[in-house]
Amino acid sequence: MTDDLTALRATIHGKVQGVGFRYATRRRAQELGLLGWVANGPDSTVVAHIEGPPAAVEELLAYLRRGPPSAHVTDVETEQTPVEGHEQFAIRGIPAGVFVVQEHAATTHHFDLRLEVAGVMRSWALPKGPSLDPAVKRLAVEVGDHSIAHNTFEEQGRVIVWDRGTYEQGGRVPWPEALTRGHAVFVLHGQKLHGGFALQRTRAADKPQWLLIKRRDADARPGSDIVAQRPESVLSEHTLDEVLD
Ligand code: MN
Repeated sequence: MTDDLTALRATIHGKVQGVGFRYATRRRAQELGLLGWVANGPDSTVVAHIEGPPAAVEELLAYLRRGPPSAHVTDVETEQTPVEGHEQFAIRGIPAGVFVVQEHAATTHHFDLRLEVAGVMRSWALPKGPSLDPAVKRLAVEVGDHSIAHNTFEEQGRVIVWDRGTYEQGGRVPWPEALTRGHAVFVLHGQKLHGGFALQRTRAADKPQWLLIKRRDADARPGSDIVAQRPESVLSEHTLDEVLD
């Protein structure tokens, strides 16, 4: 079935960032039944990975050379790339929602990673917390959804907001389908956690077990221990153990 598909990486030069270019590209790609992604690239370019039937790919390229009305395209470079098997046409670099990591002194001390998905905070309990070291795989036990209102909850000696920010959904599969299938890639923009992460389900059970793994990118910090280095709350700047006045 993939025999009649082609894939291209296109770099679009000109006045193309911040003028609705990515949204317009996604709209046209979806109309043409194409898959892949579009993102802002280096040096004020827009970069698109486009895969689908050759005629439709050519049609999208013709559209990109003209650009949406508010853009001014000076050049489009293309190179052939392998078909990656995308299942959506995504805009990368656009927040999908908020995330929070709470440190929780329960019966067993742990951290809770929560990602906003479809109006709730999907949650995983991490006995050792997150890591920015790609060689470290951290157990993440899926737990019940929390409300978005709980994201700022702190209680002296029991819960602190260890990190928070926004995140982008990544990968080839759209969310929440990626979570259902057990392999979800995302990019965090927090105060302590940055860059690409993957959640990989290893055991589907009553309390499904996952691994949280930092992806190898510019934000990876091999050998680091962010939990030890930055123990403070991003809201109150107190640590979990500190007695507050
Ligand atoms: Mn908890």
